[in-house]
Amino acid sequence: MNDGKERMKIVDIELGKDDFKVEMVKQFEGFTCHVDRVKAQYTAVRDMKKQLPNNHALVQMDFAENYSCQTLEEIQSAYWNASMVTLHPTITYVRSIDGSIVHFSTVYVSSVLQHNASIVYAILKDLINHLKDDNPKLTNIHFWTDSPTSQYRNKSIFDLISSCETKFSIKASWHYFECGHGKGPCDGIGGTTKQNADNAVKQGKATIQDGHDFMACALSESASQISYRYISTEEFENSSKEIENRLKEIKPVKGTMQLHAVAAIADGRILTKETTCVCQQCFGDDGFKETTQCNWTDQSVFKNHDQLTPDIHQTEIDEVEIQNNVPTETEISLDHQIKIGHM
Ligand SMILES: [Zn+2]
Repeated sequence: MNDGKERMKIVDIELGKDDFKVEMVKQFEGFTCHVDRVKAQYTAVRDMKKQLPNNHALVQMDFAENYSCQTLEEIQSAYWNASMVTLHPTITYVRSIDGSIVHFSTVYVSSVLQHNASIVYAILKDLINHLKDDNPKLTNIHFWTDSPTSQYRNKSIFDLISSCETKFSIKASWHYFECGHGKGPCDGIGGTTKQNADNAVKQGKATIQDGHDFMACALSESASQISYRYISTEEFENSSKEIENRLKEIKPVKGTMQLHAVAAIADGRILTKETTCVCQQCFGDDGFKETTQCNWTDQSVFKNHDQLTPDIHQTEIDEVEIQNNVPTETEISLDHQIKIGHM
């Protein structure tokens, strides 16, 4: 299944003693850097929550595994193709009037099974508009997700981050957990949601054949602390068209596979960094600061708008770099590490 997520693959490599030593040192260094980035991002999300300014929202989100529709009796399933439902849990943290951090969970439900930038965009439009309705004073939003390129870490999402203020009057930043380390609380919410649906089906309270049925079932759980929002095929298609139309305007961002932090500076301009930093120089009431000395890179998301890297050739190289990088080097490093670990 090509859902853009990375999976572990064990590979066999035969090496001589000396080559093995060199390879092992190289892999170990790669693994150490991976562990450092895992820790850096966990520390940064914790610190950002702790020091979250008033009128900022922090949103942690992920795709859950699709829900497989089941019927009460085995015999019935023969008449239907087992269909799936997309579930995308989000947890939003904001600072309340009394100064404490409060959070609430929303699960996005859809019959659209593509897990790509278009469905993410459709979800974000709804999420941001909803949040702004409830908290008109919100000025900044910070997303935290895992880092699959097909869903969250790609030029369409970077374009969205940079244009969020123009589109939704809210300044955005996006932070990526190191590959495969972005599960966290969203996993639990996805699990609970599916469990509730399964129970309702087993007890004969509901029949779930598609996203609409799932929604109806979830909403009937009056005791639930989780709220549910539906993304229609039409909303998905509209977002898809918008993303498609932007593709001729935007270019791949340099170092996409290495970056774990993206902050909007202006429409079309972003700061990127290998790991997130929320020190006082980098982050405050106005969000991420251009003036910081903490090794952020100023980049354009538009083609030919960046005087530093205007040529088309470079753009093509970056495109190839991105396409060739799934699965990533990190995954390969880990494979080797595990193989070495078993020797
Ligand atoms: Zn900093």
